[in-house]
Amino acid sequence: MTNRLPDWSAPYCELPEDIFYKKVSPSPLINPCWVDINHALANEVNGPIDSTDQKILRAFSGSESLPEWSPVAQVYSGHQFGQWAGQLGDGRGLYLGVSGGYEWHLKGSGRTPYSRSGDGRSVLRSAIREYLGSEYIHALGIPTTRALALVTSDTPVQRETLERGATLMRLAKSHLRIGHLEHFYHRNDHEHLRGMIEFAINQLDPDLIDLPDRVEQAFQRYIERSAQLMGHWMAVGFVHGVMNTDNTALSGETLDYGPYGFLTSYRDDYVINHTDHTGRYAYGQQPRVMHWNMSCLAETLTPFVRVDRLRASLDRFPDLYQTAYRTQMANRLALESDNDKLPGIIQAVTNICETPGVYYPEIFNYLLREDWMGLSQGLRGLDAYEQLLSQWSPEVSKDLVPDARAVSPSWMLSHWLLDRVIRAAEGDDFTAVKSLRESLERGISEECQSAKDLGGSPPADDSAYHLSCSS
Ligand code: AMP
Ligand code: MG
Repeated sequence: MTNRLPDWSAPYCELPEDIFYKKVSPSPLINPCWVDINHALANEVNGPIDSTDQKILRAFSGSESLPEWSPVAQVYSGHQFGQWAGQLGDGRGLYLGVSGGYEWHLKGSGRTPYSRSGDGRSVLRSAIREYLGSEYIHALGIPTTRALALVTSDTPVQRETLERGATLMRLAKSHLRIGHLEHFYHRNDHEHLRGMIEFAINQLDPDLIDLPDRVEQAFQRYIERSAQLMGHWMAVGFVHGVMNTDNTALSGETLDYGPYGFLTSYRDDYVINHTDHTGRYAYGQQPRVMHWNMSCLAETLTPFVRVDRLRASLDRFPDLYQTAYRTQMANRLALESDNDKLPGIIQAVTNICETPGVYYPEIFNYLLREDWMGLSQGLRGLDAYEQLLSQWSPEVSKDLVPDARAVSPSWMLSHWLLDRVIRAAEGDDFTAVKSLRESLERGISEECQSAKDLGGSPPADDSAYHLSCSS
């Protein structure tokens, strides 16, 4: 790219204005400056981005839209922490249209009619977390929104402290959330609810368009995709942190990176979000919460699909999830998914990762390499680990090892690594953001010197580490 985007379109804007969205001009940042451009993704999607082109920098920082863009704020509602929260909507991001097979969304671009009391901004800290988090999840082979470019600025943004405003260009197959449907259902507006579901089917499941039972079938797809996503998250030890229905995509992509994290030691009750006092979004709760979110989605479809049919699809979720989880664990351990030793091996893997100081996401890499020396201190020489190796090694399918290795992380996107990257970036040193992102481009199993330098050891009292929702 490019200040010409040849295949640009904006299908969402064909829905009625003011009912589904409001047109909004982005608000400029002061002294914008590139933190990083994901050139690999740009090339894949649209062509190179010229970082010296001031017009592109102005566009990506909200000063001046490119002529092809159709910036709008989408309206949606949602359940937050299990409670109906009413209308939410894009309060600090704008849909720009579709290009290269992705929806483009500029996050942090200023206030919109849905900002409520918010300032419409994203801070550099949280934008870096999303930028690297989404590319890391992608490199793990998990469906997710992608991060195309990150801009920082001198715009002051008040959070717990005064921080710097940033914009993130985020790409997704679709930004449609459960909340897009809940919005119209809970207003009893069945006409526009129908419009929304037909739009969703057109965008996400166009092969269903002509079927009389397409809404029911689309719901089955949502169930399948979300069960798959939970299988992925649980297998790699990802904790989203805020699995509200407005943060749950119909596409099955990981969406809205806030106070997310990865398991250190293996713990079902691991909570990352410090506002989550009841542990609703703890690691081990995620499949159950996704099932609950799917029940909110099912309710929105009751005007069009018989309740017993929706219930039958909904009831498939636990089994679909279990199968997805087992398949993912098998893939990551280079085992056949029908191997009858698999459940015992999974149990052994998770058990030994309960040891404090062991980083669960790293275990796959160590196991696949039978890497005793690289292993976290806590596991070295542990009887349980030796037992696991003796149980597991003979079952490994050599053909499956290369694929398993390709998605096993050689470094952790730990919160202390992120903190160090963010501190450097706040002092105008963006080299770590760039080098980590470039390393992910080559694959998650690649050794990464920056990760080694910055990952180091965790802060002394890591057990108390929780992340703020403020972003
Ligand atoms: P999140 O927790 O980031 O998913 O946001 C929940 C809702 O609050 C969404 O509707 C966001 O667009 C909105 N929101 C979050 N932060 C801000 C902000 N700083 N300014 C305006 N709206 C915001
Ligand atoms: Mg959100």
